[in-house]
Amino acid sequence: MKKTLLGVALLSLPLWAWAKLPVVASFSIVADMTREIGGDRVEVVSLVGPDQDAHVFQPSPADVKRLAGAKVFVVNGLGFEGWMGRLTRSAAFKGTLIETSKGVKPLRAEEHEEEGHGHEGGGVDPHAWQDPVRVQTYIKNIAEGLTKADPEGKAVYQQRAAEYGRKVNELDQWAAKAFAAVPAGQRKVLTSHDAFGYLGKRYGIQLLAPQGVSTDTEASAKAVAALVRQIKKEKVKAIFFENMTDKRLLEQLAREAKVTVGAELYADALSSPKGPASSYLTLFRYNVETILKSFR
Ligand SMILES: [Zn+2]
Repeated sequence: MKKTLLGVALLSLPLWAWAKLPVVASFSIVADMTREIGGDRVEVVSLVGPDQDAHVFQPSPADVKRLAGAKVFVVNGLGFEGWMGRLTRSAAFKGTLIETSKGVKPLRAEEHEEEGHGHEGGGVDPHAWQDPVRVQTYIKNIAEGLTKADPEGKAVYQQRAAEYGRKVNELDQWAAKAFAAVPAGQRKVLTSHDAFGYLGKRYGIQLLAPQGVSTDTEASAKAVAALVRQIKKEKVKAIFFENMTDKRLLEQLAREAKVTVGAELYADALSSPKGPASSYLTLFRYNVETILKSFR
């Protein structure tokens, strides 16, 4: 019985469903954008999954095989995927490479960059997806790249890209209005990871760097004391940590500086499907709402 139903369901699918464009994306955020724009025409696999760190990713032989079988490889660029060159060579990838950030005006990376957070971009901050205005360029690049690999889908990709671009623009307008309602001097947050430079720049949020504190070294008492002084001096209302391994340090800081510990922000990866940031649109909304809540 089950078998029959399945057979009927499959027969009712349009022909192209049998041969979707095989796409590999480097990490979950550009994978989601590509699914939004590609719709039913594409089958997207993300090498770095939800809640995983693309900075320290090491491609496996299975990943090499996946890429070798793909027609399109979607990456962020700006040196974010330091492992990309080796992978494309190993896979002898000859398909369409979509560098989603191509044409985006990059910001310079902060000097406090953590270890294990190295980028090949030569001092360029790769986290441009945190600015929805720059994401419009990502959308354009993805639509163009998919069209190059699958010209028959052009109208579909253009229409879906336009629709998605409108949603991203609406989100940006909403965030701009909400942040503008907070006095500029109060728009200060402290994050552990230098991934929110683009968000800060777009909405006039001052991001403070935890000097001497990194995710993979134990912070000295001196560094913690200096950080507490900085938080108090700058009147930071909340601190956010992302991929923070040492929760004790976070709690100690919050206690000593008498500030709120904000919920975790989503920087370089989506949440799992059940989490609050399972798509780029929900990730962005979640981060903005979380930061806004800390200002109140
Ligand atoms: Zn990062």
